[in-house]
Amino acid sequence: MNTNPDQHDVTVIGGGLAGIAASIHLARAGLRVLCIEGDAPSGDEVGESLDWSAPALLEALGLPMETLIAQGNATYKRHVILKLQDGSEQHYEPSAWLERAPFHVDLRTLHVDRSTLAKSLREIALQHGVKILTDKVVDIEKRGREVVALTTHQGLQIRSPWFIDASGGTARLFPRAFDLPVDEYGPNKVAIWSYFTVPESIEGTTLYATVPRRTYMDWVWQIPIHANTVSVGYVTTGDAIKHMRQSGLTVCDIYESQLSRFPPLQKLFLNKKPISPRVTSFRCRVHRKVSGPNWLVVGEAASMVDPMTSNGVTSAMRHAVEASHLIAKYRRRRRLPYLATTLYSWRVRSMASFFNVGIEKVMYDWPIREQIGPLTAGDMYTIPAWLMNLLYTRINPTGLVGTALFGLVLASLRSASRIVSWLCRRFASSPSAAVSPVS
Ligand SMILES: Cc1cc2nc3c(=O)[nH]c(=O)nc-3n(C[C@H](O)[C@H](O)[C@H](O)COP(=O)(O)OP(=O)(O)OC[C@H]3O[C@@H](n4cnc5c(N)ncnc54)[C@H](O)[C@@H]3O)c2cc1C
Repeated sequence: MNTNPDQHDVTVIGGGLAGIAASIHLARAGLRVLCIEGDAPSGDEVGESLDWSAPALLEALGLPMETLIAQGNATYKRHVILKLQDGSEQHYEPSAWLERAPFHVDLRTLHVDRSTLAKSLREIALQHGVKILTDKVVDIEKRGREVVALTTHQGLQIRSPWFIDASGGTARLFPRAFDLPVDEYGPNKVAIWSYFTVPESIEGTTLYATVPRRTYMDWVWQIPIHANTVSVGYVTTGDAIKHMRQSGLTVCDIYESQLSRFPPLQKLFLNKKPISPRVTSFRCRVHRKVSGPNWLVVGEAASMVDPMTSNGVTSAMRHAVEASHLIAKYRRRRRLPYLATTLYSWRVRSMASFFNVGIEKVMYDWPIREQIGPLTAGDMYTIPAWLMNLLYTRINPTGLVGTALFGLVLASLRSASRIVSWLCRRFASSPSAAVSPVS
């Protein structure tokens, strides 16, 4: 079976969060959407602690916070807590004045169960008439910078005037097909995580970290996705995992030993044995020029932001809104103007590199963290990050002036964190004592 260009207006590759969100927005705008998803939902979806800008984006998809809470698919998140191994801790929460006029910011956001969220979004997409095809895109036919057709594993040839690549950070189909330039941040990282039933609910996302001198940071997340279920994950560099594996440790050993460094997490292992943690590896990166004449890249296929930023879900849903808006706006022209593609790419790149540079320089790397202390470094990262996300939501900088101004502010903040990091490293007492990022 082949499809002709008139059967669907848009083909979306990937039925993860970004792809389904884009499909819903496009279908609402009156476009006929085919979404191709390679795998059945695995239950291994990550991205459970949401930033404060995410609830409005979920509501726009038909899932207000109250519905998600009432369905038992989410818990409220009011703050983030950073706990260090020495027992010190800091709570990060948006200031109460943000709730009052003229800001009216909701000080709550959510932790979500990604499996049930994926099911709810899929149902909404189907209700809006999105056709979901279970198949895998294996080839992309191009004409210059244009995408002409896709070939699937089952041998279908899919043609449509418009395409969205939402194939995630591993596949990145269009960035690979068009050899899009990429900026990478930090080392390869690995996350190992599992779920535990707990007797009583905890509030907020808790990050646990040890910060030995002059080392790249590793950390543990604890996220209450249901009243009695916590997601607990360990994140470190690929090199550190390799080193531990070479010393004979299994993934389970690594997971258990790293969590057991923190007394509140030790009791998790009393009730649950054996554990089969999930594992994923990733590299934070941002592609440049993530759109062409008849296609856009959204979600992690376009940019992967570090999980510690809790910003991947917001970015994925934001890209979905902006990409579908552009297609709806220019649908009759059947081509995106060059300026629109440039501005979209600029926004994707400047937001993602702002978050990635900030978290790498301020939290993961040692110079700033050691100079001002990890708890204060947490403030130095979170305050501008929250503010920029909030401003982005309010200003919605889609035009030339908005995108340029916003891009310049983000670039200045990025440069500031690079300069401060350089100065801290320069003035650290004994630079020669620096060690490699293997803990
Ligand atoms: C360890 C970890 C922790 C994270 N924690 C957080 C967090 O706490 N908060 C947060 O906001 N974000 C977090 N994130 C980021 C967040 O999970 C992602 O940003 C978000 O899920 C991106 O979704 P996506 O739709 O772009 O990609 P994906 O969810 O990866 O979806 C891509 C889809 O495309 C499909 N696909 C791939 N190739 C093909 C093909 N050839 N044909 C058809 N279909 C294909 C895949 O099957 C998949 O379903 C985390 C990420 C990681 C790695």
